[in-house]
Amino acid sequence: MNLILLGAPGAGKGTQAEIISEKLGIPQISTGNILRAAVKAGTEMGLKAKSFMDAGGLVPDEVVIGILKDRIAEPDCAKGYILDGFPRTVPQAEALDAMGINIDKVVEIDVPDEVIKGRLGGRRVCEGCGASYHIEFNPPKTEGKCDKCGGNVVLRKDDAPETVAHRLEEYHAKTAPLADYYRGKGKLKTVAGQAEVAETSALVLEAINA
Ligand code: AMP
Repeated sequence: MNLILLGAPGAGKGTQAEIISEKLGIPQISTGNILRAAVKAGTEMGLKAKSFMDAGGLVPDEVVIGILKDRIAEPDCAKGYILDGFPRTVPQAEALDAMGINIDKVVEIDVPDEVIKGRLGGRRVCEGCGASYHIEFNPPKTEGKCDKCGGNVVLRKDDAPETVAHRLEEYHAKTAPLADYYRGKGKLKTVAGQAEVAETSALVLEAINA
């Protein structure tokens, strides 16, 4: 099963992808996590991506398409995967089609901008494995430490309020049109993402018939 999770930054794509990944035994592929790891490691790709990410903009299509292509060629993707944060533009979606990849379902997690703005200040991510937390709604068991890998759980630089506003603009201008793209192919289901994590998970799992 190849799934795409769509939604604004902070809609809960990462959290839901982690839950589906455990339930279905298929990997979560987050281009954001891959990019953050590259920035941290100081690779050439990380250096190229960093300025776009810090400004809350999108990394150029050819860079992320290359990352995605390499990642889905890995053996753990043979039985399917959950794309979290890719595609983010229509050309990225077209690139998936051009690769001959069949997407089974696309679930859009819908959260109003005002809720997103309130949420992102409380979001934390693990520097080690990329797991997502929220200080109020989904805190790690030990403050500041990842439940999964023990890594440091930190605030993302691009979750600062001034950067969030730009990320939301980018989302509405470039990513939101993907809902129509996949609706036109009969693959889109939209669920409300305002409720508790578990309630949203139930809706997402229902949407993918899992
Ligand atoms: P995320 O963790 O998904 O919010 O991604 C963090 C940042 O990485 C985004 O704000 C973009 O700068 C970059 N990024 C992640 N995925 C993509 C993508 N598919 N296309 C372009 N930029 C991306």
